[in-house]
Amino acid sequence: MARYTDANCRLCRREGQKLFLKGERCYSAKCAIEKRNYAPGQHGQARKKVSEYGLQLREKQKAKRFYGLQEKQFRNLFDKAAKRQGKTGENLLILLETRLDNVVYRLGFASSRKEARQLVVHGHFTVNGKKATAPAMELKAGDVVKVKEKSTNSPKFKEVKDMAITVPAWMSVEVEKLEGKVVAMPTREEIDTPVAEHLIVELYSK
Ligand code: SF4
Repeated sequence: MARYTDANCRLCRREGQKLFLKGERCYSAKCAIEKRNYAPGQHGQARKKVSEYGLQLREKQKAKRFYGLQEKQFRNLFDKAAKRQGKTGENLLILLETRLDNVVYRLGFASSRKEARQLVVHGHFTVNGKKATAPAMELKAGDVVKVKEKSTNSPKFKEVKDMAITVPAWMSVEVEKLEGKVVAMPTREEIDTPVAEHLIVELYSK
C-alpha cells in the first residue's frame, strides 16, 4: 500500500493535536494546529459524540501517525509487544521508541521522523560500527548510532553540529562526534508520546 502523501498537517488536525510531522514548521506560528485546531473538511467544526470504539480507533491512528507507520507495520509491532512480558501497551511504546528512525530523530539528527527515515534509508548511519539502512531496526541498551564518516561533511550534518540538542534520559549524545547511544531501554515515564496506549490494547483485543 502506498504511503500517505496528503498534507501532513491534516493528520494533526484530524487528531486534534500536534504530531510533529513537519520539522521546524511544527514549532512555528505557521503550524496548522495553531491556526485551525479543528478537524479538516466541511464538517470539521461540527460537534460529534464519539463512541468507545471511535476513541480507541483515534488513539491507534494517532500513535501510528505520530511514528509514521503503516497499519500493517503497526499491527505487527503490536503483536510483538503482546508476546513480551509486561504490559502490552508499554511494550508497544518501547518498541516504537527504540526503532532506529525514532532514535535518530530523538538524537536531533533529523528534524522529523520522516526525515530520519529518509536519512537512514540513504545509508547515512551506522549502528555499532556497521552500516544500518533499515528504519525499523530495533535498538537495545548499549547500541551506538553514528553518522557515517563520509556523511559528516554534508550541509545537513554540519548544521546539526551547531545545534544545542537535548535528548531523553535513556539516551546520550555527543553532538560534535555526531554520535548517540541508547544508554538504557526507556521506561513508560520517559516516553512523552501523547498516547493512551490502553485504548490501543482494547481496540486490538476485540
Ligand atoms: Fe502538525 Fe507540524 Fe503541521 Fe503543526 S506544522 S499541524 S505539528 S505537521
